[in-house]
Amino acid sequence: MGKVLNKTGWNLDNSYSRLPNVFYTQLNPTPVISPNLIILNEMLAKSLGLNSKALRSKIGIFAGSDIPDGSLPLAQAYAGHQFGHFTMLGDGRAILLGEQITPQGTRYDIQLKGSGRTPYSRGGDGRAALGPMLREYIISEAMHALGIPTTRSLAVVTTGEVVIRETDLPGAILTRVASSHIRVGTFQYASVWGTTEELKALADYTIHRHFPEIDQVENRYLSLLREVIKRQASLIAKWQLVGFIHGVMNTDNMAISGETIDYGPCAFMDTYDLATVFSSIDRHGRYAYGNQPSIAGWNLARFAETLLPLLHENAERAVNLAQDEISRFMDLYKKNWLAGMRAKLGLFNEEKEDESLMDELLTLMEKNRADYTNTFLALTFDRYKNMDLFVTKEYAEWQLRWQARLKRQKKSTEAVKKLMRERNPALIPRNHRVEEALEAAVERGDYRVMEKLLHALSNPYAHSAEQAEYATLPPPSACQYKTYCGT
Ligand code: AMP
Ligand code: MG
Repeated sequence: MGKVLNKTGWNLDNSYSRLPNVFYTQLNPTPVISPNLIILNEMLAKSLGLNSKALRSKIGIFAGSDIPDGSLPLAQAYAGHQFGHFTMLGDGRAILLGEQITPQGTRYDIQLKGSGRTPYSRGGDGRAALGPMLREYIISEAMHALGIPTTRSLAVVTTGEVVIRETDLPGAILTRVASSHIRVGTFQYASVWGTTEELKALADYTIHRHFPEIDQVENRYLSLLREVIKRQASLIAKWQLVGFIHGVMNTDNMAISGETIDYGPCAFMDTYDLATVFSSIDRHGRYAYGNQPSIAGWNLARFAETLLPLLHENAERAVNLAQDEISRFMDLYKKNWLAGMRAKLGLFNEEKEDESLMDELLTLMEKNRADYTNTFLALTFDRYKNMDLFVTKEYAEWQLRWQARLKRQKKSTEAVKKLMRERNPALIPRNHRVEEALEAAVERGDYRVMEKLLHALSNPYAHSAEQAEYATLPPPSACQYKTYCGT
């Protein structure tokens, strides 16, 4: 017999709290003055086995003022390389309420972000502002709809309190749902501040939770490394294919599960340019669009280092094993990217020259400052208007090459177009549209702009009439769009 569920549907377990004590600090979120529900993700709630109506009558849970049955709140310890520098971090403004077990038996972390100070807060206030929490909601849900593994957003509440940033801002808390919050940084923390036994406990927990299929293999920790590399290779290729720029690919912001995590200064690229950086703190472009694959490789090398004591008793042998795995990352990434780019161009089979066909198109896009998303939309719908790229002689030559390539694969035009529609989104959350939605919400308490945007983003491959307006580019601006940390 299963547990008798409460009306809301909370069915929480706390497996993380059964890890050794070094990995967390048990504490409750700090209650807030007057919580107000801004947005609830009803579809996500349902898939988690939660009852939206009952949730709405108990919003104190989303504010940290009430603790759901079965919760054992805790803040997780972790470390990380921030812009290349190693530090102790941890949940400075987040609390894990527990793990919701869905009716299908899947386990998801339920985490409050912005829920007050913890022992890991360092100088921070433990709080978050409404704009950035709604921004995480919009972008994480857009990523999910684009088919990219990501943490999800269940709800945002305002706290009735002010948070002090450059100006006074309305405080808010985001309820985040994740396969887990185990990070590369969690392993770095275990490796530096834990014993080998504690590191092993974390690795075993991770295998049990995310990779049960490797539980019985001969060198399970080497398999763990291999599987994490595989998931990141797939994830980063998906980011590159939609033009997503994470902005802070520190090792603490890389999830072992392979989900995109920690939406801070992230943004989508408009004009195709490998050097695109939006984050105001990324002055040297470490996390620029074109650097993301190699940074992922660097982060995975840091992950591999933490596993060395578990890989082999002979230290040199352990390093060799780890290096072998790490050296495969770029090829794996490239394979994933090529497969995705083939689909974007309507290609079903593989030819050796495909990569040069793709590279040439991208070079022309860069040279003509073409919009990344809209170029592929134009190719999908044969709408070669309003873009400088399409009137160039070089593009005409490229198009002939592409057409000849399409002919060789012997697929119908309908099949090609269908594949392209399924793999080229009608819209991305463009910065100016996200800003417009946030401004209406935060400055005027008008949530309609955001709701309309969320609706359009919820099925980016629908290519519906309502989505057409979101393909419009921002007006030319003197200064590049900037995103800010310290959210
Ligand atoms: P992030 O840049 O969001 O990945 O955060 C890096 C670290 O800073 C994490 O340990 C966060 O928990 C912590 N942090 C960010 N903002 C705050 C805040 N307002 N109060 C306390 N800790 C914070
Ligand atoms: Mg983070």
